Amino acid sequence: MKSKYKKKELEKFIKKLKTKGVKRNLAERIYTSRLLGNDSEIVLHGGGNTSLKAEIKLQNKMEKILFVKGSGIDMKYIDEKGFPALELTNLLKLKDLKKINDFEMINFQKKYMVNTNFPSPSVETLLHAFLPHKFVDHSHSNAILSLINQSNPIKICKRVFANKLAIVPYIMPGYELAKLSHSIYSKYPNCEGLILLNHGIFTFGNTAKQSYERMIKFINLAEKELKKNSKKFKIIKYKEKKISSNDLSILIRKNINDCKDGILHKKILLFNNPIFLDELFSHPNLNNFNNIGPVTPDHVIRIKSFPLILDFSKVSKNKIESLLIKKINIFKENYIKYFNKYKHINKNANMFDPNPKIILVKGLGMFSVGTTYKDTKIAMDIGTTALKVFLDSIKYGRFKTIPPKEVFKMEYWPLELAKLKENNKNLRGHVTVITGGVGVLGYATAKKFLNEGSEIVLIDIKNEKDIKLNMQGMSYFKCDITNFDQIKSTFDKIIAKYGGIDILISNAGLAIHSSLAKLSKKDLDKSFDVNLFGHHNFVKYGVNILKNQDIGGTVLFNISKQAVNPAPNFGAYGMSKATLLYLMKQYAVEFGSFGIRFNGINADRIKTGLLDDRMIKLRAKSRGISKQNYMKGNLLNIEVEPDDVADAFYFLAMSKKTTACVLTIDGGKIEASLR
Ligand code: ZN
Repeated sequence: MKSKYKKKELEKFIKKLKTKGVKRNLAERIYTSRLLGNDSEIVLHGGGNTSLKAEIKLQNKMEKILFVKGSGIDMKYIDEKGFPALELTNLLKLKDLKKINDFEMINFQKKYMVNTNFPSPSVETLLHAFLPHKFVDHSHSNAILSLINQSNPIKICKRVFANKLAIVPYIMPGYELAKLSHSIYSKYPNCEGLILLNHGIFTFGNTAKQSYERMIKFINLAEKELKKNSKKFKIIKYKEKKISSNDLSILIRKNINDCKDGILHKKILLFNNPIFLDELFSHPNLNNFNNIGPVTPDHVIRIKSFPLILDFSKVSKNKIESLLIKKINIFKENYIKYFNKYKHINKNANMFDPNPKIILVKGLGMFSVGTTYKDTKIAMDIGTTALKVFLDSIKYGRFKTIPPKEVFKMEYWPLELAKLKENNKNLRGHVTVITGGVGVLGYATAKKFLNEGSEIVLIDIKNEKDIKLNMQGMSYFKCDITNFDQIKSTFDKIIAKYGGIDILISNAGLAIHSSLAKLSKKDLDKSFDVNLFGHHNFVKYGVNILKNQDIGGTVLFNISKQAVNPAPNFGAYGMSKATLLYLMKQYAVEFGSFGIRFNGINADRIKTGLLDDRMIKLRAKSRGISKQNYMKGNLLNIEVEPDDVADAFYFLAMSKKTTACVLTIDGGKIEASLR
């Protein structure tokens, strides 16, 4: 690992930030924090923290200030808004108190903020404050963690770091750790940093460069030591051929839901196959891996303290699911035991979902589990890093982590939990796939379902680069729904990314305007290809996945009032949509016993890509009325908007006891009303 500090680059950065009124030393602080944040071997997803002590003018008086990283902020992208400023003189007075609890500590930290509009300061703020150095850097570097999660870490650290780092025994972050770290530092005032056993490393210096480069120097020493003194063992290559990752993903998703208050909470699953997995599974002590434990305490809230390990190498294909269920149940029982044993530590703690968050499968890969794609991705990144650190650590010596009691303290620590923003929305953990996804109705529906907490996959025939919509938080796959092979490969990609599917919105459509007398066979075929067979292709493939998942599911069709109320010159559209209505009912009959619901929307006269100005003119003319009257021609005399359709889809998705139902969204049209 090399220092990435570049003077020229820094000067440019300082100049840029000066235009925003950021002073030189804070700009330097941001610059080296980003250098740390940009290296995933040093810092991951909001981990680590840095600080600067400076003086600024407050109410005409120079005040000593601590700028410290905001809690949970990702150093990779940090800017001046990520460094709340605190009154240092007041923070330092806290050092002389005997004891303060977490609540008081956070209260003091908030009280001494210069501007409370900034994010909450890190839970490690006081540790930064009590150290006298201008710049302080803290990370949970991989190489350092592999060396300090050992059975004899003090001896190792003294030798490897040549006594340049003072060693602080493990206690959880907070006031006591800040005080202990300061008192140990005071005994070794010439040290260049601190090792916090089972936790990470602090370095400090008079300049941003010095503090950052010391961090790099010690990480380098750790890396060299690991390289020099690690044992190699024979790697046994094994490939699990009995089940694919996608099929296993569906099985896991089926068996890993937690049911709270009678509601099934679904999960997102992500798959990855890190190269070191064979090595991990080849380790002679594999059976003891149940005691993996966290490599640094703040991983626990993301990945629990150990993964679920699965080995299907000795079972036949038809025994895979029963072994999976057995292993998940054992994992859950152990987690419940652990919770009950330590819950006295935090009487307000409610047990988290006892299911595993990381699942390792011999010869296949690893899964991470979460309630949103974002959290699942973070769990995958942290889980991968933790396993790598663990592997390096067992190759080097004997891995030793903190005891379960300390794990519990961290896992249920209210200050740490503040980093997790829980998604309590109705559709969390759900994956919604929408065809015609970048059209007006598809996109309006996507936004609605996204707001309700669902993961969103848009499918359409456009090239992604030609789409001008904001698709943040959504995935896009180009797919022609009239092509079955494309549908198959698109669903494969969706399962690989999210682990499964829950809601299918079959929305893509095609409108052809012609009288029956002039309608060509080609146009009629085209209309049926999209408006009937396209829906059938999409739902046929998707419904089999829903059936295998065996956790219910919803299929929603965008039908049309045309299905029940023909209008002149719209036969190709109407006939295909009338058959689509039938298709919906047929699916409802065949798959109702699997808990899968099928419903549709009959919407009318909504301005969309199909019903554009040209088409509105044509349709109005066919009816012999004006454009305005055409759009508002309904009992309520109001124009129906795309969001009304999105709301109707959502309503049907949430109507747990409704199937084979058509909801009309047309402002009231008596000739199109169904009953
Ligand atoms: Zn830390």
